[in-house]
Amino acid sequence: MKALVLASGGIDSTTCLALAMERYGKENVIALSISYGQKHTKEMESARKVAEYYGIPLRELDLAEIFIGSDCTLLQGSSGEIPKTSYAEQLKETDGKPVSTYVPFRNGLFLSCSASIALSNDCNVIYYGAHADDSAGNAYPDCSQAFNEAMNSAIFIGSGEQLRIEAPFVAKTKADVVREGIRLKAPYHLTWSCYEGGEKPCGCCGTCLDRAKAFAENGIPDPAL
Ligand SMILES: [Zn+2]
Repeated sequence: MKALVLASGGIDSTTCLALAMERYGKENVIALSISYGQKHTKEMESARKVAEYYGIPLRELDLAEIFIGSDCTLLQGSSGEIPKTSYAEQLKETDGKPVSTYVPFRNGLFLSCSASIALSNDCNVIYYGAHADDSAGNAYPDCSQAFNEAMNSAIFIGSGEQLRIEAPFVAKTKADVVREGIRLKAPYHLTWSCYEGGEKPCGCCGTCLDRAKAFAENGIPDPAL
């Protein structure tokens, strides 16, 4: 078995990578980091550091052009501000639609690209870090269990039953992800989650708040702070 891990430099994908390393071993894991026109390069830098930490190959891909025209607030082309409240607060204003930091069908695109790269590199499984907190309330619908199952079917059938996807945390909370990462000794000190590209994490965007809560629930300080 050989795994391709979608690595974004954050907590969830780094834990996925740690899990794939445990299951398949260093020589059977490759990482893929995709830039999508986000406002900063911090997460790409973290993905590089994490891949380097594990001593595995990292492939990088730039898909920024795909998102030209999107008003997603994470993207360089957007004039909108990144919200400084929790996802739960944001969802009160979205009328059932995803939050403003939802990048249009990002996981669908990333998994499709990953499938082509995985098949070209003899991988049988793709790991990615979707978890239940992100799909709650439809904040990020491309992190949901239904989406994951549908994409898995599409990739399994479309690859001639050679490749499947695995989202080990799709039914788990971010606190569960951190708990698993602690067990795996994931290099959280190298990760970056904040949507802003400051010197330090802003501490008040949706993902900073989520991250802080996950570490607090595990009773340990965030090693990246
Ligand atoms: Zn932040």
